[in-house]
Amino acid sequence: MDAIFENLTEAQREAVGHIEGPMLILAGPGSGKTRVVTHRIANMIHQGVPPWQIAALTFTNKAADEMRHRVDSLAPNQPVWMGTFHRFCAQLLRRYATMVGLAENYSIYDTQDSKQAMKRAVMAAGVSTTHASPDQIASSISHAKNRLMTPETMQGQILRPLDALAAKVYPVYQQQLLTANAVDFDDLLLHIANLLRENPEIRSELDNKYKYILVDEYQDTNLAQYAIVRALSIDQPNLAVTGDPDQSIYGWRGADLNNILDFEKDYPSVKTARLEKNYRSTPNILRAADQLIRHNRKRKAKDLFTDHPEGDAVVLRMFQDGYQEADGIADEIVHAIAEEGMKPSDFAIFCRMNALTRSLEHALRSRSLPYQIVNGVEFYQRREIKDLLAYLHLVNNPNHDVALMRVINTPTRGIGAKTVERIRDFADYNGIPMLEAARRAKDIEGLAKRAVTMIGKFIKIYDRLAIKATAPLEDLIRFLVEETEFEAYLEKTAVEQQDANPMSNVDELITAAVEFDRQHPEDGSLEAFLEQVALVADTDAIDGETDRVTIMTLHAAKGLEYPRVYIIAVEDDLLPHKRSKENEAQFEEERRLLFVGITRAKERLQLSCCKRRAVRGDTRPVIPSPFLNELPLDEIRRIESTGNRDWFDEEEDYDQSYPESWDLPDEDGSPGGDLDAVSETAPVIAPAGFEIDEVSQLPAEELAEVMKPKKKKN
Ligand code: ATP
Ligand code: MG
Repeated sequence: MDAIFENLTEAQREAVGHIEGPMLILAGPGSGKTRVVTHRIANMIHQGVPPWQIAALTFTNKAADEMRHRVDSLAPNQPVWMGTFHRFCAQLLRRYATMVGLAENYSIYDTQDSKQAMKRAVMAAGVSTTHASPDQIASSISHAKNRLMTPETMQGQILRPLDALAAKVYPVYQQQLLTANAVDFDDLLLHIANLLRENPEIRSELDNKYKYILVDEYQDTNLAQYAIVRALSIDQPNLAVTGDPDQSIYGWRGADLNNILDFEKDYPSVKTARLEKNYRSTPNILRAADQLIRHNRKRKAKDLFTDHPEGDAVVLRMFQDGYQEADGIADEIVHAIAEEGMKPSDFAIFCRMNALTRSLEHALRSRSLPYQIVNGVEFYQRREIKDLLAYLHLVNNPNHDVALMRVINTPTRGIGAKTVERIRDFADYNGIPMLEAARRAKDIEGLAKRAVTMIGKFIKIYDRLAIKATAPLEDLIRFLVEETEFEAYLEKTAVEQQDANPMSNVDELITAAVEFDRQHPEDGSLEAFLEQVALVADTDAIDGETDRVTIMTLHAAKGLEYPRVYIIAVEDDLLPHKRSKENEAQFEEERRLLFVGITRAKERLQLSCCKRRAVRGDTRPVIPSPFLNELPLDEIRRIESTGNRDWFDEEEDYDQSYPESWDLPDEDGSPGGDLDAVSETAPVIAPAGFEIDEVSQLPAEELAEVMKPKKKKN
């Protein structure tokens, strides 16, 4: 009990001690919001609330794990439900699948699967892609889903020509998902929100089951997430949410700031806690964050302060190019470890997009600095892993058409694209899954005899696998690899794919399966494994155990903290992102993204930009971010590194004025900047519905587009 209330301020203590009724904890970064949530859970249990009546919802698995870890240290081994919104919904949906037209073994399509499905739906809907790409249509549909629109209601709410096209595709896409017994990520939320709305008995049953609901980072909820927690907190309005409107960075995914701003309206009896003090950062870092965020027009002002000593000045550094930036940062880390007693895990490097990290990796590797790139989904997106998982998906859910299309000719067995098209058309025409259509290959018009034979072979392999569906995962995957002669296939294709050792990835998958079998001795459920894999997110890969420098996107950094932080490529068109030029709301979200990055730092912070950046071997001039001009420049240490690669020892002295070459946009002289001027030059971000992975890992062509030199402002 003492441990729960120890080391808390009065305001925090009050929030932790509160149990019954709605509660809103509104506070800036580093003020202990997450700490309050965990201590609150522990306190509830100590006060006799049955742990299974508590659900804590987060946005990343990493945040949930962290929370579990912290609660465990205060109240060990309690069956409190902790996890992401998506996982919460996925589990409920297993139970209520039939009520929304799915079967219990439904599959979750990942982003790539959804893209495939969307292409097919666009075609089937007869919508031309001349004016809108399937990706744009997907983003419009995703936005509609996050706003809880059904195919029918979307029709009535068309705002743009793109939405009109999307509204035509939406019913077709949705029908195809149902036929495939599958959902996309947005559906997990949408189905549950609809289920709760349309079934008062289920709603009230679940409301009473989850009597106490806690949501951290509530500012990032979208309408669907809002509807879900609201529906579960009517009879039992013990909903506690924490958030910081200044850290809302998922507007492009439909997050709605009003959810937090209107909380007091939704729950008039709410108890509001404001945590005033920051426990994370130095005053220098906080002033930089504060000055920056003041430029946002749409916000409630709040002060950031701390009792910590001043600390070092924030550094703003101009490098000649990306290589020098990478070398410079790596050298500095090496130096800090050798001379200042720091360790690799004290450092984090943030960037707007993962595509920018290559030179950094090289620089760290060449200095033997251990590092990790937080990119959890990457492993499961590898070709050979996707192939094997697709087989498993098809075994678990024979209606999974995207999986069937992936494996029917993998390993190659002479089933060509034309044949697959005919199977697909036959399936579409008859409203049946493609596997079913493949079984009826003989009835499909225009299929060559040879093709029919080959399809028959595939079906045989599939049926042998399906018998093993309930075997331990390890056995199933080993059997799959043997049956399909997968290793030989990988060897054959490894050269053309320039892949050094794809079999080692297969081994890694088997290791994951062994681990899963160990954790799930009774059920060993294939379905649960696939669900876990589908809900893996970028941040899951963060390894807090080993001592490594962490590189990640600004989005992934939310909620975390590190003693020393580097934010690279604070450049115009990257941060703010080029696409945020479209409107001021998106531009302000980019500013919040930088604010989130800055406020992760505990002791030291460096922002950097370059004069030039190489994209695909082509070096282009770049312009510093207009946000840099909004920092308290009079107290920031500005350094321009010379072209000399050994600059570290020759670093230029503290310079009070911007070198001319900095060419900052919006040079009106006032560090505060002028909002109008900013919006005028305001470039930039990510369109609604654009998946984070896509933003962070733009393909080279897009990156090139983003990095195109801009005309200098006179
Ligand atoms: P963010 O908005 O960035 O998610 P937060 O409000 O959730 O921040 P926490 O992560 O909970 O903040 O806390 C920030 C840091 O301050 C953590 O290291 C936490 O342990 C520490 N901290 C919080 N409250 C106190 C306190 N009363 N005494 C000492 N340290 C504290
Ligand atoms: Mg937090």
